[in-house]
Amino acid sequence: MDGGKIGKVLIIGAGGVGRVVARKCALVPEVFEEIMLASRSIEKCEAIKKEIKDATGREISIANVDAESVSNVVELIKSFQPYLVINVALPYQDLKIMEACLETGVHYIDTANYEPPDVAHFEYSWQWAFGDKFRDKGLMALLGCGFDPGVSNVFCAYAQKHIFDEINYIDILDCNAGNHGHPFATNFNPEINIREVTQPARHWENGEWIETPPILDEKSVHFSFDYPVVGKKESYMIYHEELESLVKNVKGLKRIRFWMTFSENYLTHLRVLQNVGMTRIDAVDYEGTKVVPLKLLKLLLPDPATLGTNYTGKTVIGNVMSGKKDGKDKSVYIYNVCDHAESYKELGAQAVSYTTGVPAMVSAMLIMKGIWKGAGVFNVEELDPDPFMEALNKYGLPWKQAEFTGKLQE
Ligand code: NDP
Repeated sequence: MDGGKIGKVLIIGAGGVGRVVARKCALVPEVFEEIMLASRSIEKCEAIKKEIKDATGREISIANVDAESVSNVVELIKSFQPYLVINVALPYQDLKIMEACLETGVHYIDTANYEPPDVAHFEYSWQWAFGDKFRDKGLMALLGCGFDPGVSNVFCAYAQKHIFDEINYIDILDCNAGNHGHPFATNFNPEINIREVTQPARHWENGEWIETPPILDEKSVHFSFDYPVVGKKESYMIYHEELESLVKNVKGLKRIRFWMTFSENYLTHLRVLQNVGMTRIDAVDYEGTKVVPLKLLKLLLPDPATLGTNYTGKTVIGNVMSGKKDGKDKSVYIYNVCDHAESYKELGAQAVSYTTGVPAMVSAMLIMKGIWKGAGVFNVEELDPDPFMEALNKYGLPWKQAEFTGKLQE
């Protein structure tokens, strides 16, 4: 097989984000003529298939797949023949799914970069290494098409194209001011989330990566940022994957940082879990059985896909960017506000899944329509931001642009 039919999309991963991607694609039948949702647990695919049928009358195909196996994914792609695969399974499967796409000649997108299961470390090098192979086959692999990474990258590209001659400072600020009503839960896959936020923080300044303590350390870097709509929230510096590509792709950059809000309640629970060893990713022997504590914890915590039921409040995610235009200093803030309850009403999903799934659908749509094209491995800021920004407004993630007059951490 070499390439699939335009209009056919294969979505891998039927979790919180997978639900939003599948349901949003189903609402755009003129682009996504045929949809297949495949995942490890067929029951989750069945539930989403039923939701789509009830909401739109459309039938989608479903399948069982183990994305850890290249041959399994290849077989599935050959049988369905999609034009594009949207990978919203876990970062562990990225390389396997990319290999399968190369072997079958189909385009690829994802929302999180590769991470080896046995080391809590993520970086783009493993996926960028596929560049020549995708280029030689005339295929596009587009990395990090969620909100952050994803929209946060496109906000930079848009600012670079329309607002600044050069952007010198970027602060990406991710605030979830929602309340899910559980004592402790994570908003996306608990294993991936906890691995990410327990890492040391890192930001980039004057050509160097600077490491600072992780969020649970008493010396962690944090400050109170005054977010639109939801007000002041304590925001912690963490390392986030889009920093790695943005330092390469934004001209004139002097500093880039990433901030995320955490409540005292979240930090207290996480501190206890870490102190008692429940966030460990190495296997321990429990009565003759090998158990990875963090995987066990994931099993016990609420499934993020089910959090939406009583979720209230909003997410506010955006970029403060400063630089020069026509020789003058300028600062802007571009952001989106998303409401948990409204996302649930529309698609049965909380806002973190919603804000990730909609940009993935939009990116897939732009590739499917031939508006975004290219051969090789790309990060989203390398493509024209305009059709993406326009589509965000149309498909549920309207953004605002304002002059920034607030205060950031020095
Ligand atoms: P979930 O855990 O809810 O969903 C992941 C799904 O992938 C599950 O249905 C799971 O199956 C399936 N899966 C896991 N392993 C395999 C496998 N080997 N083969 C086939 N399917 C598999 O996670 P989320 O939906 O919350 O997150 C999905 C992705 O989105 C993650 O990579 C996450 O990092 C990313 N993300 C990106 C964001 C962004 O802004 N860029 C923000 C939030 C998330 P099963 O149900 O059987 O476990």
